[in-house]
Amino acid sequence: MPPAVLDALRTTFGFPAFRGVQADVVARVLAGERTLAVMPTGAGKSLTYQLPSVMLDGTCLVVSPLIALMHDQLRAAEAVGIRAATLTSADDNRDETIARFRAGALDLLYVAPERASSEGFRNLLGQAPLSLFAIDEAHCVSEWGHDFRPDYRLLRPLLDRFPDVPRLALTATADAHTRADILEQLGIPHDGMIVAGFDRPNIRYHIAPRASTTQQIADVVADNPGAGIVYVQSRAGTERLAESLQKTGRPVRAYHAGLDPAIRRANQAAFVASEDMVMCATVAFGMGIDKPDVRFVAHAGLPKSIEGYYQETGRAGRDGDPAVAHLFWGADDFAKARQRIGEVEPARQLGERVRLNALGALVETAGCRRAILLRHFGENPADQCGNCDNCLNPPAATDATQVARKFLSAVFRTGQMFGTGYVEQVLLGQSTERSMTNGHENLSVWGIVEGEEAALLKPVARALLLRDALRANAHGGLEFGPGARALLKGEATLSMIVPPKRERRRRGDASG
Ligand code: ADP
Ligand code: ZN
Repeated sequence: MPPAVLDALRTTFGFPAFRGVQADVVARVLAGERTLAVMPTGAGKSLTYQLPSVMLDGTCLVVSPLIALMHDQLRAAEAVGIRAATLTSADDNRDETIARFRAGALDLLYVAPERASSEGFRNLLGQAPLSLFAIDEAHCVSEWGHDFRPDYRLLRPLLDRFPDVPRLALTATADAHTRADILEQLGIPHDGMIVAGFDRPNIRYHIAPRASTTQQIADVVADNPGAGIVYVQSRAGTERLAESLQKTGRPVRAYHAGLDPAIRRANQAAFVASEDMVMCATVAFGMGIDKPDVRFVAHAGLPKSIEGYYQETGRAGRDGDPAVAHLFWGADDFAKARQRIGEVEPARQLGERVRLNALGALVETAGCRRAILLRHFGENPADQCGNCDNCLNPPAATDATQVARKFLSAVFRTGQMFGTGYVEQVLLGQSTERSMTNGHENLSVWGIVEGEEAALLKPVARALLLRDALRANAHGGLEFGPGARALLKGEATLSMIVPPKRERRRRGDASG
């Protein structure tokens, strides 16, 4: 790294050194190479374009989807003396900003994607010196991603108009499929991807079925005296829970997008300043909040995705001290999620279903939670982390290898083209018009699963998908993946938590 870069890091930003992959990303950007940086929240993505923006001539254009976040970033950039501005519908100094941009007097200009792709703005870009395109929350460009925004698709033609201006895409949350899609959509070469480590070793993960949410959350609050966030799915739910947690004697507040902005601001400020407050919030809370000493995060229901879970739990323990993450889930969460998937555009349903299955595998595993999370983000973790509920207290598990083999055989015998539901029917011997027409009732796998094994079918199917022993094709049909062989040959085993009796039927229902 050239001394001038380290100099700028120290003098402008006041940091003694780069953290993690920051140095690699900055080096690529300064060399003019197109780059995708996948870095978890808090890893310091902003620096990777802010530092080049002060070192390079011209303006770095930052595309960012959330105006509220842009203003936070603007304040932070200006605080260290970077010449920055935002150009959004919420700004009344747009003429002044445009003049500064034209004059080359801005290091950073933040815009929303819809503005970036407008004709007027495109013309403006041709008249101003550009140093870099930084595309924040780049997973928004992928239909496969969990937060697709059609406006992001309009960026490519804009970028391609300036082929010599380097581009840096940034995201905190992207599975392998989404990452490949981002590279493709934004014209970044495959060797231009830099992925930071995702592990947060000081966070202890706990996941349990829901019994009485209020009581379970009150117990978490009692066990954890430090500040914490409880994520609740509905706005009304945050206020109800805040109300009932008053009895814990802790300061409690609620936060959701429906609250008066002044109250929202006040509650957020109180939380940041407090050492023991419990914030009952929707997922609207947390982005852009700098509070390193959050000691616990609890989910009172299923998060939207593994990405969401990782991001929300990641708000705990930023200071590196021990922190805990609790999740309480119910089969009805899965039913609701499935219903929501049914309502999204058909092109996006498969991705959503795969994501829901991954979440199912995370909550149902008898194995290490961290291992599942990290594998989801493309890492190759140890089988045991020693700092999650299942590693610390291994649950009663049942060997599901036989059921897994039966499942794989049924997928194979029916021609690797049917979905989970149909394969289950075949294994359970549930006769339908379809199974008769297909002649599947004569197969050796017809009706070979019964009794206790039946409750394991759905969790096993999910586990097989997660291990890449099965893959879903574009129509949801299951086919063998590279992980199938080891199971069929007896070289690998599969163990699952024994569903508690009372929960058994409902859990068996929790599928995607
Ligand atoms: P992200 O966008 O990846 O979530 P931010 O860019 O907001 O992360 O940075 C998270 C925090 O880390 C900020 O408080 C930032 O000032 C700090 N930070 C970034 N880079 C460094 C560094 N090299 N050394 C120390 N602190 C850093
Ligand atoms: Zn573990």
